[in-house]
Amino acid sequence: MNHRIVVLGAGYAGAIAAGRLAKRLRREDVHLTLVNAEPDFVERVRMHQLAAGQDLKPRPLADMFQGTGVRLRVDRVTAVDVEAKTVALKSGDELAYDTLVYGLGSAAADHGVPGVAEHAYELASRPGALRLRERLAELGAGARVLVVGGGLTGLEAVTEIAETRPDLDVALAAREGLGGWLSGRGRSHLRGVVERLGITVHERAAVERVEAGGVVLEGGRAVGADVTVWTAGFAVHPIAAASTLEVSGTGQIVVDATMRSVSHPDVYAVGDAALAMGPGDKPLRMSCASGVPVAWQAADAIAARLTGRKIPKAPLRYFNQCISLGRRDGLIQFVTADDRAKGSLLKGRTAARYKELVCKGAVWGVAHPTLGLPVRRHRMEREAAAEGRAVEATA
Ligand SMILES: Cc1cc2nc3c(=O)[nH]c(=O)nc-3n(C[C@H](O)[C@H](O)[C@H](O)COP(=O)(O)OP(=O)(O)OC[C@H]3O[C@@H](n4cnc5c(N)ncnc54)[C@H](O)[C@@H]3O)c2cc1C
Repeated sequence: MNHRIVVLGAGYAGAIAAGRLAKRLRREDVHLTLVNAEPDFVERVRMHQLAAGQDLKPRPLADMFQGTGVRLRVDRVTAVDVEAKTVALKSGDELAYDTLVYGLGSAAADHGVPGVAEHAYELASRPGALRLRERLAELGAGARVLVVGGGLTGLEAVTEIAETRPDLDVALAAREGLGGWLSGRGRSHLRGVVERLGITVHERAAVERVEAGGVVLEGGRAVGADVTVWTAGFAVHPIAAASTLEVSGTGQIVVDATMRSVSHPDVYAVGDAALAMGPGDKPLRMSCASGVPVAWQAADAIAARLTGRKIPKAPLRYFNQCISLGRRDGLIQFVTADDRAKGSLLKGRTAARYKELVCKGAVWGVAHPTLGLPVRRHRMEREAAAEGRAVEATA
């Protein structure tokens, strides 16, 4: 019987893993199934654009995987039994596997803050972004929108909303200082953009609870809002933690350097769902930036083990943080391998164009899972860094 590989989740990580496995293995040797709850590929990195009213290109998974040998199954995973090696689906069907690739991604994390589920909007998922889009469209001039979360998603969301709707009164609540992890020049560019867009920033503002009319900060200060947008991090779905897989305190599957579960060698985890260690022995953060190379790594390791070849190593390191600041501005903060800001950066329109290229490149990578993305990335990196030096020299 063919070796049965079941890939769960067709986000960036799962879709790339499935496509790469299809290219690396012979169709007569494997039976490759990709399960996803929705029929199309969702560009999660553009959810703030969707929420702000932009329309995204539909990307049906059936078209993307046509002719690849990957069998697409649109269904929702409800449970995984890693002892019986089966996956339960919402339709009532059950899939048996020999190798499982778990890539179910993540959703918005409320961190147990009261009122988030009842009163806040999120944009970590497409349904969430669409709900927020609808609500923003209802708002009249002067209505107050508060984005909670000063991380990458919060910055992208607050600037996108403020740029699209200059008639709104837009604010950001950040637990730390604004862009505190960026380089000095990165922080000052961010501050300039935020001022230009008229965004009020509440720094060192930890939200204690969300209410219908805004939030209450630690210390008791209230910040009023007609719409509160919650972007304070991601949490994984509870399916892995409900199985006998070894998971971390965050519910992510603990894996080795080949993305193989440390407790169940026939299970691999990729993307946000995996707890993988990166350079400096730091866990890779939930991101597309690390989700893509770990998907290459998992697929290559599976293919190598099944065919008796040497396991190649994907570059599990960071190069940059790409932050859109509306459609016409951005910030590309170059970072060390373990994600700490370096002095070099790109900003303004150059950065906005670079970020757009990265987003397009990520989708391209899903459709072309084996075609030398690391090489393109290094080249882009060198070109952008060269351009960045020129930009900085004239700034
Ligand atoms: C607004 C926003 C901007 C971002 N910007 C960036 C950025 O600039 N750079 C960056 O590196 N990262 C960014 N991220 C983070 C990035 O989007 C995620 O880290 C990335 O999508 C994770 O990829 P993944 O494949 O693990 O999961 P996902 O992309 O979440 O994909 C998971 C897939 O699994 C499916 N699924 C989930 N549950 C089930 C189930 N029970 N049954 C069947 N299918 C299921 C989902 O439908 C989805 O297709 C951003 C995120 C957001 C929300």
